[in-house]
Amino acid sequence: MTERPTTQPGLDQALRAAARAAIVLAGSEPATRADWLRAIADELDAHRDELVVLAQEETHLPRPRLEGEVGRTTFQLRLTADAVVEGSWLEVAIDHADPNWPTGPRPDLRRVLRPLGPVLVVAASNFPFAFSVAGGDTASALGSGCPVLLKLHPGHPKLSDRTGELVLEALTKAGAPTGTFAMISSEADAQAALKDSRIKAGAFTGSIRGGRALFDIAAGRPDPVPFYGELGSVNPVFVLPSALRRQSETLSGFVSSYTLGVGQFCTKPGVLFAPHSQSVLDELAGLVKAVAPAPPLNDRIQQGFTGRLAELRELWQPVSEGTQTADGLSPSLFATTIDDALDDLDGLFEEAFGPASVVVSYEDPAELVAVARRLPGQLTATIHGDEDDPIAPELLGVLAGHAGRVIWNGWPTGVSVTWAMQHGGGWPATTASVHTSVGPTALRRFVTPISYQDVPEALLPAAVRDDNPLGIWQRIDGKLTPPN
Ligand code: NAP
Repeated sequence: MTERPTTQPGLDQALRAAARAAIVLAGSEPATRADWLRAIADELDAHRDELVVLAQEETHLPRPRLEGEVGRTTFQLRLTADAVVEGSWLEVAIDHADPNWPTGPRPDLRRVLRPLGPVLVVAASNFPFAFSVAGGDTASALGSGCPVLLKLHPGHPKLSDRTGELVLEALTKAGAPTGTFAMISSEADAQAALKDSRIKAGAFTGSIRGGRALFDIAAGRPDPVPFYGELGSVNPVFVLPSALRRQSETLSGFVSSYTLGVGQFCTKPGVLFAPHSQSVLDELAGLVKAVAPAPPLNDRIQQGFTGRLAELRELWQPVSEGTQTADGLSPSLFATTIDDALDDLDGLFEEAFGPASVVVSYEDPAELVAVARRLPGQLTATIHGDEDDPIAPELLGVLAGHAGRVIWNGWPTGVSVTWAMQHGGGWPATTASVHTSVGPTALRRFVTPISYQDVPEALLPAAVRDDNPLGIWQRIDGKLTPPN
């Protein structure tokens, strides 16, 4: 890149440049792309204070939370960079020619993953750094070798613009080609981009309605493309009778978790199943009332939450009614019985994006398994109890079939950025349960396998050469083999 690029060059120009850049990126070395990601991380770290001020103005999130989120975002970029170079995510397999192979003479076959091409990333509102302009979707798309066209979220436009400028500056200085990254801002442009044959995949974090609309566009194209939407989840928590020995600790953990960040986390525990007990409800009421009000992200989120709160009031009994004051929203808690919940599981398992949750009282722990079997796809499901609780093994087994992450005696808010993280789940938690949007494994979403058959060594991509110039793990003739 020579002249100073603009973050929003216009849709068609951005798509043309992205298509050209995709060719360069597909041929780029992993170490080169890792350098780009680290350059972005360095640029964000260097401008952390300026970015946090902008984020505070636009999202009303507290400064310590935002500072922490910048750290999480730059860590995510650097961890992705390390993973890109480490190379195991490329799933390289080399099968040398074998005339005696049981299914008939085998040609020389070499399988590797290659980038799909330009990706539309639709940024989220609730994590203005970690799931926005330079967030996990951008990191994994760029890291895997795909240019990014970023639809910024209208909840933090100035922060998005500034972050986008820094991303572009970093990429420019690091030598990435024009078109590697650009932004758009309107819903119409996002839809037009996703319909355009130059976009090869989409990634999204937001509402079920928005995600579903974009998923349908991606699937309805003459040339359908993958669309990775992270949508809604109620993240049920199952408190077993044995956990009531730690009643106060368990209940205060729950209230802290569902009110954290004004309840605006996709991993917020929106339903708590607890043994029938007036003392549980009384203690919860006291804990909820003690939580200070805080402002929601923006008016749109507030409107959506207020509407859902009215539905919750119709459906369930209040334990503690939140209020809306000049300081923001205070939390609400509702209660019902498991029999009533079973009559309206759709109502129970619809997300309320804000500080509200529902306690479901049960008499017989076996009822928990019946409910768990009917759970729609979830990002998380949590059990609190002792490991020798008789219902624990069966409940854990059922929940593992319905949630991307199963948590034992912990809380779902807090998503560690690490190799073993699974941030995903079946519909409606995501549109693609086979992938994660957090952790280095997220790279896998933007690549597709190719086998090279009998291609001369000199023409092969570096990842599948016998001399292994990238120094990565390769599965050679069936055996996973470390680099020399
Ligand atoms: P949203 O309304 O789904 O919007 C997210 C992004 O997608 C915005 O940039 C929006 O653009 C775009 N978008 C939505 N529908 C679209 C369409 N049909 N065509 C093209 N672009 C579209 O989500 P939000 O504003 O962030 O929050 C609203 C709700 O989303 C919350 O109440 C909550 O339920 C859910 N949410 C979930 C998560 C999660 O992590 N799962 C995170 C945040 C929010 P425009 O704004 O320009 O229309």
